[in-house]
Amino acid sequence: MSGIHIDDVSRQFGDFTALEEVQLQVREGEFFSLLGPSGCGKTTLLNMIAGFLDPSTGRILIGEQDVTGLPPYRRGLGIVFQDYALFPHLSVFDNVAYGLQIRKLPKKEIKRRVDETLALVQLSSMADRRSHQLSGGQRQRVAIARALAIEPSVLLLDEPLSNLDAKLRKDMQTELRTIQRRTGITTILVTHDQEEALSLSDRIGILGHGRLQQVGSPLEIYRQPANRFVADFIGQVNLFHTRSMGDAASGGNIRLQVEHYELANGSPLILETAVPDSVEAATYMLRPERIRISFIPGSEGQLNRTPGIIQHVSYAGDQVRLKIALPGKGELLVVAPDPVFPTLPVQGDPCELYWAAEDVIPLPTEGG
Ligand code: ATP
Repeated sequence: MSGIHIDDVSRQFGDFTALEEVQLQVREGEFFSLLGPSGCGKTTLLNMIAGFLDPSTGRILIGEQDVTGLPPYRRGLGIVFQDYALFPHLSVFDNVAYGLQIRKLPKKEIKRRVDETLALVQLSSMADRRSHQLSGGQRQRVAIARALAIEPSVLLLDEPLSNLDAKLRKDMQTELRTIQRRTGITTILVTHDQEEALSLSDRIGILGHGRLQQVGSPLEIYRQPANRFVADFIGQVNLFHTRSMGDAASGGNIRLQVEHYELANGSPLILETAVPDSVEAATYMLRPERIRISFIPGSEGQLNRTPGIIQHVSYAGDQVRLKIALPGKGELLVVAPDPVFPTLPVQGDPCELYWAAEDVIPLPTEGG
């Protein structure tokens, strides 16, 4: 088992810089996800770790060894691709045995390792089948077994579940995490699926605009995004551009005037935030699930409480997503758990929204 050190790595394609000065330490035994929008450089980074691409500048270390410039087969990696890449003419057993035969291991040792890895992915009973006799999920498990059979120091997963349907994908995510925990292998997953990254990973690296925007645990990334890019990319978010009103509110909170939002009579929307004085930010976020909604008129005009009018309702079974207009200008996204309403609200219904000062989170500017 090894950690991975990406040391100041950049990659150019002609004049185009796909990745710039990436500095990242993946810890030994960690499940780490690289997440970001299409074209942000996830695959480029994974390919450089795998050895399919060389960095333009910088170094990559696996364990203590500088592997920059080493061919893929000398890096001791297991790799699983999106399209499985199984050999159709070989049985499940022989697919998994392939890497061991190339390494010229004794037959007995090959059988032991293949049996072990097939048991790990729960495919022992299908060792004699060909790939066309397997479901998509089973094929992907063979690909994982094949990658693990060589006992790699690191497992690289390139969108391995994206060809599977939603239900199977969820099952395979759980299975992947179980296998990773059982083997303790350092794993890097490339994905554009934020839910997958949040639910599987010990830590996540968010790539955007060719740079590593934030590295943190799923909780840190979701609750304390490093900047606006991360906040906007992970989950849904209400973003506010604000001006400080210069006067402290109750309990040491800060009062902010939100630009481009208006209540009735053109009065501004005022936010109260519980950030310490030392934090300077012009943009604040409020997650939609942190906003409470009430249909009983209350104390309108108080801070962090505003009247609204239902604009759009989208029912998703376990939750209701609502777009709510302020009386003057601007709208807020609200997510409420299903049991909150006896019946669904409809467009035009008046309501009241309120939230805690602690949920108004400052966002440093990107790269700041
Ligand atoms: P996706 O989620 O769509 O697979 P990604 O985050 O994996 O995207 P990469 O494939 O790493 O993105 O590509 C990063 C950027 O580098 C993209 O803008 C892409 O067009 C560019 N790029 C990648 N490979 C090459 C290449 N061989 N030549 C020129 N540009 C390239």
